[in-house]
Amino acid sequence: MTKIIDGKAFAANLRAKVKDAATAFKAKAGRAPGLAVILVGEDPASQVYVRSKGKATLEAGMESFEHRLDAETATQDQLIALVQTLNADEKVDGILVQLPLPKGMDDKAVIAAIDPAKDVDGFHVVNAGKLAVGEEALVPCTPMGCIMMLKDRLGDLSGLHAVVLGRSNIVGKPMAQLLLAENCTVTIVHSRTKDLPAMVRQGDIVVAAVGRPEMVRGDWIKPGAVVIDVGINRVPGAEAGKTKLVGDVAFDEAAANASAITPVPGGVGPMTIAVLLRNTLVAACRRAGLPDPLGL
Ligand code: NDP
Repeated sequence: MTKIIDGKAFAANLRAKVKDAATAFKAKAGRAPGLAVILVGEDPASQVYVRSKGKATLEAGMESFEHRLDAETATQDQLIALVQTLNADEKVDGILVQLPLPKGMDDKAVIAAIDPAKDVDGFHVVNAGKLAVGEEALVPCTPMGCIMMLKDRLGDLSGLHAVVLGRSNIVGKPMAQLLLAENCTVTIVHSRTKDLPAMVRQGDIVVAAVGRPEMVRGDWIKPGAVVIDVGINRVPGAEAGKTKLVGDVAFDEAAANASAITPVPGGVGPMTIAVLLRNTLVAACRRAGLPDPLGL
């Protein structure tokens, strides 16, 4: 079994399954699942993300609705009014507001306006709460992608010790909840944790989501552990003026100890959009009273 977990291939496989299921949904419901993405402003990275999400949505046989607001003129009230219109739109199953929002807009207030049944990012407090108490939720895409890859690699995760680096609402906390739901023993470490290497060394599973380039060194990894690197960090490349992407884990060092590891790029990243499509399909099925065709 190869040591490198190929997130690209895993994501392509999931996207193909979602596409088949979206076709089946259309035959039953008389319409394709629909994903609405809202972008406020011109942030170049956000524009790239929104474009690739729209393209992936169409490729999955779903409807894509893109809404762009001008950062200079749009107000938070207008943004919330747009969210409410999409909440009421029968053709829209998922609503995603691209973050970060421009200065002066409150991410929390905007996310709170999304109908939790259409919150395909899983950021609404209703979905965070449902995940915490073990009810059917829409789960944040990145940690969901990580848990899918872990289960594929390891099967039953029961009793394994998982160490999650980072405690953000987007990655660390939901990741820990998902691992707990799989009966792992979970340790969450963060910037105030004492003796980080010793804590991480306990992990049969290590999920790194800190946003610090190559912070996790090879000797922090217990021999045989499975390492999931969520980090995406742009650092100077070998050639002058060029940059490259690295994760939160020093890949070559960690790979020497790990039984399996995700690379950056090509690991967790591609899974995030695939799970977004999966969440849109799940939201569409739940709203239409149909069973989840992927059984995920
Ligand atoms: P946040 O900045 O919101 O959270 C970072 C977490 O890491 C915090 O909990 C922080 O601790 C902890 N941390 C920071 N520095 C240290 C340190 N030196 N030692 C221990 N813990 C530390 O980041 P996100 O969770 O949003 O993202 C994390 C990484 O994942 C980023 O690189 C981001 O780009 C990437 N990412 C990748 C995605 C993908 O699709 N692959 C999607 C989302 C994120 P504290 O709480 O104490 O401050």
